[in-house]
Amino acid sequence: MCFRINQLEGGEGLIQVYTGNGKGKTTAALGLAIRSAGAGFNVYIGQFAKGRFYSELSLLKRIKKIEVEQFGSRCFIRVKPGKKDIELACEGLKKAKKAISGKKFRLIILDEINIALNLKLVSLQEVLSLLRSAPRGKEIVLTGRYAPLGIKEIADLVSEIKEYKHYYKKGVKARRGIEF
Ligand code: ATP
Ligand code: MG
Repeated sequence: MCFRINQLEGGEGLIQVYTGNGKGKTTAALGLAIRSAGAGFNVYIGQFAKGRFYSELSLLKRIKKIEVEQFGSRCFIRVKPGKKDIELACEGLKKAKKAISGKKFRLIILDEINIALNLKLVSLQEVLSLLRSAPRGKEIVLTGRYAPLGIKEIADLVSEIKEYKHYYKKGVKARRGIEF
């Protein structure tokens, strides 16, 4: 069977949120980045609260249509975020503003921005006003667990990935090429 797809070249830009405690938020966003770049669009990916190497980075950096940057320290934020974490997140938000207001990028992915909001590294008001001021035609994806209500309300799509089962509960550690 063949479905008719409403094909809009570029089309209206919408706001998407991938949140919840299950696995698959960042990888869903990366999948969308590949689809968009494949369609010829420029994609910006800003990773908040992440400074460690993730295997996808080596490949993404080789794709001309995708620009990826990290705004987090090398260590995980375990207790209270430090000054450096806040500085990096604020820098990330500045870059996000530039990517959203500029002409180049069609898709802007703010990976783990919900975590940055949850840790109060960036202010909810600032992120909301950035989303409100986005020019038409910009697709914006926000990922990370604990998406605040304000973000879910402004979004056009919210996918909440629920953990039904996760192998980490039986002691499986994060694996290269699967988790990082
Ligand atoms: P992915 O990057 O695989 O798409 P995600 O973006 O949905 O996952 P995050 O909440 O960003 O998930 O978590 C990052 C990674 O850490 C995920 O791959 C997840 O499987 C793993 N993870 C989450 N919680 C734990 C935990 N408590 N112990 C071990 N690994 C965990
Ligand atoms: Mg993630």
